[in-house]
Amino acid sequence: MIKRILVTGGAGFLGSHLCERLVDEGHDVICLDNFFTSQKSNVAHLLERPNFELVRHDVTLPIYLEVDQIYNMACPAAPGHYQYNPIKTMKTSVLGAINMLGVAKRCGARILQASTSEVYGDPEVHPQTESYRGSVNPIGIRACYDEGKRAAETLFMDYHRQNKVSVRVVRIFNTYGPRMHPYDGRVVSNFIRQALQNQPITLFGDGSQTRSFCYRDDLCEAIIRMMNLEEEFPGPVNIGNPGEFTIRELAELVIELTGSKSQLVERPLPSDDPTRRRPDIRLAQEKLGWEPQQPLREGLAKTIAWFQSIKLDDYRPPTPNFV
Ligand code: NAD
Ligand code: UDP
Repeated sequence: MIKRILVTGGAGFLGSHLCERLVDEGHDVICLDNFFTSQKSNVAHLLERPNFELVRHDVTLPIYLEVDQIYNMACPAAPGHYQYNPIKTMKTSVLGAINMLGVAKRCGARILQASTSEVYGDPEVHPQTESYRGSVNPIGIRACYDEGKRAAETLFMDYHRQNKVSVRVVRIFNTYGPRMHPYDGRVVSNFIRQALQNQPITLFGDGSQTRSFCYRDDLCEAIIRMMNLEEEFPGPVNIGNPGEFTIRELAELVIELTGSKSQLVERPLPSDDPTRRRPDIRLAQEKLGWEPQQPLREGLAKTIAWFQSIKLDDYRPPTPNFV
């Protein structure tokens, strides 16, 4: 059945793909964004579709809309972006959650929160299961994001218990793909941009820290399944690709796939940078019948092709915090 769906942060990397899929499925989609870390070009191709609407708005302020479902994706996600104005980042997570949960409560809409593997901090449990409560430094430079997302999870569960709002919480692990902002400073976009320009590839630390990389289409499929699951299951559920790579391995793979002449250079490791990260996805497999389909090599090849197709001059770094 056709639904009215609000996607906050809908012009961003993940939000724009989600909007595209939902528009293609025939739903009435409202994309809400303040364009802090994105630009209209991500959704320009949707503007002529009669079932797509773009609203410039900041989720820290209330808004009145009538919808059936809400995907709450609005939040800067790259470390350089969320650390640029950490107080605003916390407001976006917390006030944004309160405002969007308010819309959900008033409309009787179901709402999904884009939470994060960062709620586990620098984990002592590996791989990370949903029952692990995390190891976050509450006063460090990543705390504005990690604690903001943790507080948002609390709000989601309290609106569910207290006000019977139908909520869904997904904990997203590192996701990559076409339409990542080339100047977001995240590892995949940095390495591809650097490799294509034959510039030094910046390993933070010695590159032995690990991440697990999920392709954006796999991610979108999982969160749409989570939203539409008939069972009243609030989560949280981990969504990610359990393939685990060191950052040095990622750099070597990017060099191989691009045929770049770039050299690896080591840079200081930022504080509180998690040492290891890999999702335990058994809950997603069981509840959603989902597992990722795209191996890193194939997903990276598509992402590299996209980076080759864009003009870097069309992009403005959202903050000065990129290498
Ligand atoms: P992104 O930066 O491309 O998208 C975020 C979007 O939110 C941008 O369009 C930005 O302009 C918008 N936004 C930021 N603050 C806002 C505000 N106050 N009001 C309205 N809009 C605002 O990042 P992304 O990778 O697409 O991430 C989307 C969501 O998924 C985020 O909530 C992020 O925390 C979560 N997530 C992403 C990843 C990942 O690896 N990509 C991992 C974990 C969680
Ligand atoms: N990283 C790196 N070089 C870069 C950017 C990032 O070595 O140019 C490392 C970073 O220190 C971290 C990992 O890559 O260990 C992933 O960083 P990213 O910013 O993509 O996301 P995070 O998972 O840390 O939020």
